[in-house]
Amino acid sequence: MNNLLLFLLVFFHIAPIDMNKLYGPCVTVPVIMYHHIQDEATAKKLGQGGLSVSSDWFRKQMEYIKAKGYSPINLSQISDFFDSGTELPKKPIAITLDDAYEDNYLNAYPVLKDLGIKATIFTPTGLVTVIDYLNWGEIGEMSGSGLIYFANHTWSHHASSGALDVLDKEIRLADGQLAEKGYNQSKIFAYPYGNPSAGAEKVLTKYGYKLAFTTVHGSLLCKGKRFELPRIRIGNAPLANFGL
Ligand SMILES: [Zn+2]
Repeated sequence: MNNLLLFLLVFFHIAPIDMNKLYGPCVTVPVIMYHHIQDEATAKKLGQGGLSVSSDWFRKQMEYIKAKGYSPINLSQISDFFDSGTELPKKPIAITLDDAYEDNYLNAYPVLKDLGIKATIFTPTGLVTVIDYLNWGEIGEMSGSGLIYFANHTWSHHASSGALDVLDKEIRLADGQLAEKGYNQSKIFAYPYGNPSAGAEKVLTKYGYKLAFTTVHGSLLCKGKRFELPRIRIGNAPLANFGL
């Protein structure tokens, strides 16, 4: 905290913002975020180092989650908490993977299956079957395990700025494709590129969406901010380095 802020707080007795009062109920759940899971040499060769966690680190991190007694939850449990007060398990955590890369099936899914850990893959449905992305067969297999949930990430990985009619189409198309296959009945969304927008929020509300995740850093999730939920970006390091 800088000195001026400290001075203001002490001198004027300004209380820190009470999120629960303003936006509650709130709950602390680290929602950790991954993109590619692949070995470091491949990531480097493809210029995907910044968006990759190595398969080895991913396994170590998932083992840590188990060893530390975290309870991996479905994201729908967060909306159940917001809307019905349904209690979350002790030490809740949620694992998310963005963009539905095929390496999620090749490198992350075996680890998750091995350890019985739930995760959500935010899927731009228009990219499914494109090379290096998941195909519907892999998605079906992972979903069938009961561990992996597939949620909306627009149709073409479209930014949430821009024209409302395009946003509407992007969110509606992905919603329809997922619904047609029985996916994402809990209406969960993540913003491509991470930034929320008033337009996107309007569209999400229109289609009955319950939660939307950003790439803003944090772990305090509040009902009044259910379309601007924070996450924690994970890299090649022990999860303890990310506050877990
Ligand atoms: Zn994305």
